[in-house]
Amino acid sequence: MNINQLTIKQARDGLRKRKFSSFEIVQSCLAEIKKRKKLNAFITVCEKEALEKARKADKEIKDGTDLPLFGIPISVKDIYLTKNIRTTAASKVLDDYIPQYSATVIEKLEENGAIIIGKTNCDAWAHGSSGENSDYGPTRNPWGEEYVPGGSSSGSAVSVSSSMCLASTGTDTGGSIRLPASFCNVVGLKPTYGRVSRYGIVAMASSLDSIGHFTKDVEDSALILSITAGKDLNDATMPNKRVDDYEGYLEKGVKGVRIGIPKEYFLEGLDKRVKEKVEQKVKKLEELGAKIEIISLPHTEYATACYYIIQPAEVSSNLARYDGVRYGNNRTYFGDEAKRRTMLGVYVLSSGYYEAYYKKAMQVRTLIKRDFDGAFKKVDVIITPVSPTLPWKIGEKADPLSMYLSDIYTVTANLAGIPGLSVPIGFIDSLPVGMQILGPQFSEGKLFQTGKQIENL
Ligand code: GLN
Repeated sequence: MNINQLTIKQARDGLRKRKFSSFEIVQSCLAEIKKRKKLNAFITVCEKEALEKARKADKEIKDGTDLPLFGIPISVKDIYLTKNIRTTAASKVLDDYIPQYSATVIEKLEENGAIIIGKTNCDAWAHGSSGENSDYGPTRNPWGEEYVPGGSSSGSAVSVSSSMCLASTGTDTGGSIRLPASFCNVVGLKPTYGRVSRYGIVAMASSLDSIGHFTKDVEDSALILSITAGKDLNDATMPNKRVDDYEGYLEKGVKGVRIGIPKEYFLEGLDKRVKEKVEQKVKKLEELGAKIEIISLPHTEYATACYYIIQPAEVSSNLARYDGVRYGNNRTYFGDEAKRRTMLGVYVLSSGYYEAYYKKAMQVRTLIKRDFDGAFKKVDVIITPVSPTLPWKIGEKADPLSMYLSDIYTVTANLAGIPGLSVPIGFIDSLPVGMQILGPQFSEGKLFQTGKQIENL
């Protein structure tokens, strides 16, 4: 095993015992980035800076400094502002934009010793489900290069999956962490809305944007959340809620845990092989003492339509600031998808249509949230597939509507503001499959508890 393939926990232990240096880990990650350049996972690689930081970290480790992520190379979705490092949101509008400050999450990760190895490719402005909608070319799936890796946080998932770094940050507005995690065989967390600060991250749809991460296992996911979660005065939508001891949940097992299986997530359109795989895992959890209950989330069928009204409405407002005067290039640099969403958004917000579309969608959103509130009175967590299909071939879904339908199982969590964890559950035809665990707001600990058990099956 190469050292770039280690989990954070393993690398940290090795660093403490001086089995290898941070410099060596960074070097082997950089070698992997070069070797698999064809995957197009990175927009910017910070080779020189990362090696310098690693050298410095090694010195400090020798002097006894010990931080949770000390000397650990991570990658960052190119939608997080990073001070003095180009940040493009994968759009040519921001092709040469260099931020003056870093996102709160980046500051927290760096304060805890993480080293940024580069900025990852993604769908432009995080619009997409496949990683194909980037002005810097599509990202490819490491498990089959002709397949999509899932999006929008495509490069982040790929960089962890192919060990170009030990963990990565992502954003999830309708599934952009969970879907690529599932397609690339890594763990992806979308935290509760407001658990992690949105400050310094290029906004897509502000009431849905959730800030999460990709890791090689559930334990690392818990570790990263314990660093990134918590109040930030720069994000007014964050409640002052205590951060749980997430790592404390990892070994609790599933005995007595009540797991809901929503029947609406297992209907027509779901690949039979994916369905079987999820059901097999659920059965095993039952054998371990979990209590399985079939539940109903009756408004699920309206979720995609509801999401594709609210989200473009917010996109049209957020993208208005990119006028070429304050940031980057002018509006002619916007791609088709950004234009499509802006037009849709402006339309559903315009007078005469606002009541029929936007207001109606907001009412449906409340019903979807109520479905979950009701379900969580009966069960602790809910298990569903992440995607109705396996990864598809690059270029296969040229019609935007067919792409939107791939979000059917993920957008509900964003509409309800609840957390979701995507955990790998194996392969079908050599392509990865993931399973989604949903829980009530601020129940990330329970998701790690269940996810860890699934990992052990
Ligand atoms: N695929 C969804 C969309 O295109 C979700 C994107 C995201 O979560 N950023 O809107």
